[in-house]
Amino acid sequence: MTEPTSPITQDVLTLPRKLPEGGKVNLVGLTRDQLRDALIAAGTPEKQAKMRVGQVWQWIYHWGVRDFGAMTNLAKDYRALLDRHFEIALPEVVTCQVSMDGTRKYLLRIAGGHEVEAVYIPEENRGTLCISSQVGCTLTCSFCHTGTQKLVRNLTAGEIVGQVMVARDDLGEWPVPGEPKDETRLISNVVLMGMGEPLYNFENVRDAMQVVMDNEGLTLSRRRITLSTSGVVPEIARTAEEIGCLLAISFHATTDAVRDKLVPVNKKWNIKTLLDALRDYPRLSNSERITFEYVMLKGVNDSDDDARRLVRLIQGIPAKINLIPFNEWPGSPYKRSDWERIEAFADIVYKAGYAAPIRTPRGEDIMAACGQLKSATERARKSKAEIDAETGL
Ligand code: SAH
Ligand code: SF4
Repeated sequence: MTEPTSPITQDVLTLPRKLPEGGKVNLVGLTRDQLRDALIAAGTPEKQAKMRVGQVWQWIYHWGVRDFGAMTNLAKDYRALLDRHFEIALPEVVTCQVSMDGTRKYLLRIAGGHEVEAVYIPEENRGTLCISSQVGCTLTCSFCHTGTQKLVRNLTAGEIVGQVMVARDDLGEWPVPGEPKDETRLISNVVLMGMGEPLYNFENVRDAMQVVMDNEGLTLSRRRITLSTSGVVPEIARTAEEIGCLLAISFHATTDAVRDKLVPVNKKWNIKTLLDALRDYPRLSNSERITFEYVMLKGVNDSDDDARRLVRLIQGIPAKINLIPFNEWPGSPYKRSDWERIEAFADIVYKAGYAAPIRTPRGEDIMAACGQLKSATERARKSKAEIDAETGL
């Protein structure tokens, strides 16, 4: 039995301590401190740095401007200096597919020619953008399409923030100067539930969320951001302390034997270790409950006994249980539980005092539903032997 692969080291630096020779530094995704360092390195006098950060920040994240020439409250010389050293670059949209239900899936190309996906899910009173944190995934959850794809690399903070900006471009959500501010937000929520394990790319995810949560610019509140993890225990407390967003756990099973197969990282941090970490989760309260995601797999984890074990296990943790009907993908080894089974399971959980919404699959016709994401052109695949070794199937 092999150990789940450890996180790769961050191979892409996002912090331009020194400006690179030749190439321009992308300003998207730098935190305010990093932006300050970058502006100073390019020749901005230290005394002016704070003001310049504020101005440039507002142009990029409030107005959505991509061209330094359009930053009209900056002197022409300074705009030219910025243009010599920097760029405001986003992932390239390769395709945008629109589902019958209005869900929009973006296939995005990033440096190195790699591809990731982001999905926009409009609902009646909110709009959720599901973003990716890695190209592929080191983990091999046996029910997840992304899990069959090798980890290619971590996304940079700029590529993570860039997904939000690309979706805003597509939805036309930037304010127009001189026009009254539109208070309805098309992207009201962000979930880190796309490709990859966000806690194996902690620093970049944290920096990106800092930019997204900044109270000027994209201004999403920390309570409108949910990070989903398969259970990387050592990073869980840090998530509360350094990001402060809401947490979702891909739980999916009520015994270690089954969870080892579904979510192989369980062999490293088992159910008890995971639940102990969650009981200590610093922000835990009734208003900031942890979401337990539970994918409903026919005959695998969907019995009444499972439902009863689940509520016993999470006793004492302010929680809601999100039941996810399994979304099939080409070659997937499981079937979705029958609807009556899902409802019976939900009923047991609900009667034990937990909210147990059943997640409506969205964008299935364009393979945009949970767990269906995988960049089709990414050729590096895990071999069957690798997957079998990790899942023990
Ligand atoms: N790596 C992180 C975040 C991405 S997965 C994590 O595992 O939490 C987002 C959610 O979709 C997880 O709860 C995951 O378990 C679930 N999921 C994966 N494959 C699925 C599938 N085929 N059908 C339904 N949900 C799936
Ligand atoms: Fe990776 Fe999450 Fe898919 Fe598991 S469910 S393989 S952790 S993306």
